[in-house]
Amino acid sequence: MNTYGDLGNILVLKYLANKMGVKLTSEVVSLGQDFDPDKFDIVVFGGGQDFEQSIVSKDIQTKKKGLTQFIENGGSVVAICGGYQLLGRYYIGANGEKLAGIGALDHYTDKQKDHRFIGNVVIQNEETGEKYHGFENHQGITFLGKGERPLGKVLEGHGNNGQDHTEGAIYKNVYCTYFHGPILARNNEIAKHVLMNALERKYPNADLSQAQSVKVGSTF
Ligand code: GLN
Repeated sequence: MNTYGDLGNILVLKYLANKMGVKLTSEVVSLGQDFDPDKFDIVVFGGGQDFEQSIVSKDIQTKKKGLTQFIENGGSVVAICGGYQLLGRYYIGANGEKLAGIGALDHYTDKQKDHRFIGNVVIQNEETGEKYHGFENHQGITFLGKGERPLGKVLEGHGNNGQDHTEGAIYKNVYCTYFHGPILARNNEIAKHVLMNALERKYPNADLSQAQSVKVGSTF
């Protein structure tokens, strides 16, 4: 899915990879296509509206095994809004329909009653201290599960559910968020984490100091 220009995240990953001296190529895996976990180092899963999610919810079941294996083996993932919801156990849409996720991550998403969270969000990652900025627009309310920690603590806005001050999720090398669209352009620290995780996994014995030395943040 790619509702709000989410594929811009791939452009940011390519731009940053280039600065690191790394060549990154990309490919779309669409409806009806197989996902081969051995073929990719990074997966970007964009956001979507309920209608698109109802289609993808069915299709992604055919990719469940491959995606789960990819994630469990430390593959890097960036998942946004509707994509974040479908990596979890289920999503209940605005009309009450329950859409199956793939349960690769343990969170679940219930519905709000006639309400959406819309507006700017600021969060802080409690491990790195990094602050991330985004824009949220979702009716689903997500509750994290086993092995997941939030991408950040909500400083402004609503985040996962408007209740527990969490926003997004991190599980192994998977980064999930309700931030919309090309979020890595505004939060390139996350792009760097994703690339470094992917490089460390792909080249465990390589000297990655050149890649590590590339500056992100306000100097990006
Ligand atoms: N359709 C979902 C919701 O409303 C996800 C929206 C999105 O991807 N921004 O919660």
